Amino acid sequence: MSNLNLQYPIFGAEILCPHCQQTISAITLTDSYLCQRHGAFEVEPNTNDLVHLSSNRRWRQWDGQWYRQHTHPDGIRFEIHEALDRLHSQGYQATKVIIAGRYQQIITAYLRRGGNSWHSETLKLYGLPVEFSSDASTDSCWDVINFNLEKDQQQRSSKRQGYFHNFE
Ligand SMILES: [Zn+2]
Repeated sequence: MSNLNLQYPIFGAEILCPHCQQTISAITLTDSYLCQRHGAFEVEPNTNDLVHLSSNRRWRQWDGQWYRQHTHPDGIRFEIHEALDRLHSQGYQATKVIIAGRYQQIITAYLRRGGNSWHSETLKLYGLPVEFSSDASTDSCWDVINFNLEKDQQQRSSKRQGYFHNFE
């Protein structure tokens, strides 16, 4: 390991900005990266979360990709909605959504408020059964990623119209 690495934050001399996916540089001898368009991002020392200083949004990295860390169910719902739309436009049908266990509390509270019965065994989101990842061991992708969609193995006719209407 060269001494040069010590000058940089933990993700190295350059990262992709989580907002615009442009390569952005570390500020030497700090824990920060600076995007020309989006300003400063700082690595939080204890968690290695990347924090956008002006919005307090945070990301974790898995396999070279940033995953936004949510504090509100709407953010996760929106991501799942987008992923379902993408899956459907590829000709697949989702059968189940598995959400990271660290969101279990806020998602469960949200879904129950939205009419899922307290007595119902199965919580549903966009008509799909919801499960939560079992307690993440350290070094698991479930500490980082937000959800995973299970899908039909069979690909249907692709390139149909999006399953959902766009939000615009
Ligand atoms: Zn940017």
